[in-house]
Amino acid sequence: MPRTMEGLARLIARERVAPWIVDAFRAVDRADFAPVGGRERAYRDRPIGLPQAQTTSQPSLIARMVDACAIEPGDHVLEVGTGYGFQTAILGRRATTVVSVERVEELAGAASNNLERAGVANVTVVRGDGWLGVREEAPFDAIIVSAAASEIPQALVEQLREERRLVIPLRGVSDDAVYVFEKVAGQLASGRLLTPARFVPLVPPAGW
Ligand code: SAH
Repeated sequence: MPRTMEGLARLIARERVAPWIVDAFRAVDRADFAPVGGRERAYRDRPIGLPQAQTTSQPSLIARMVDACAIEPGDHVLEVGTGYGFQTAILGRRATTVVSVERVEELAGAASNNLERAGVANVTVVRGDGWLGVREEAPFDAIIVSAAASEIPQALVEQLREERRLVIPLRGVSDDAVYVFEKVAGQLASGRLLTPARFVPLVPPAGW
């Protein structure tokens, strides 16, 4: 069982993800993004519980989802569901700028603090509803969603650049599954199943 980020990075390397992602796992200390009392669990390839009944995803799943985004240097990326900001920091190792939207005030605040303390300067955490995306920051070169949606939020399709990717877990009958879509001629095309996985729900806007 890995006890350091180096150990975790070696495990991530086995997922055959882009080399920059393995390097990012060496550069970002997941313990800096763990809740109080969770630091010793940070180097395991396991999810960790967060306040407000939320969960920070399993590192190998984060690595695969981030890889599927096909992020290039220069990109402006949207993350929906910040949690405590670990994945945000990973995205910031490749993207030029990352905007992350989180609906729970307590988590958005904690993530901002964690990111600032870790010296991550190219990411912005916004308190808001991810179903609506972040219109004033659009368009995005990639959008990654960290909670399972009952359907694809239309605002995210609109805010994604042409020929770029949306990585999103969708609720299934018995389980959730992560899909990778590309935007072609204004619509999502070539949906590909990345992996089955369990996520907390992407909470729909009030009144749905
Ligand atoms: N990327 C994080 C995932 C945290 S869990 C990580 O890997 O650590 C998913 C997060 O999505 C939770 O923090 C939850 O509060 C948030 N969330 C759920 N519904 C949302 C919505 N409609 N808009 C924004 N954030 C949402």
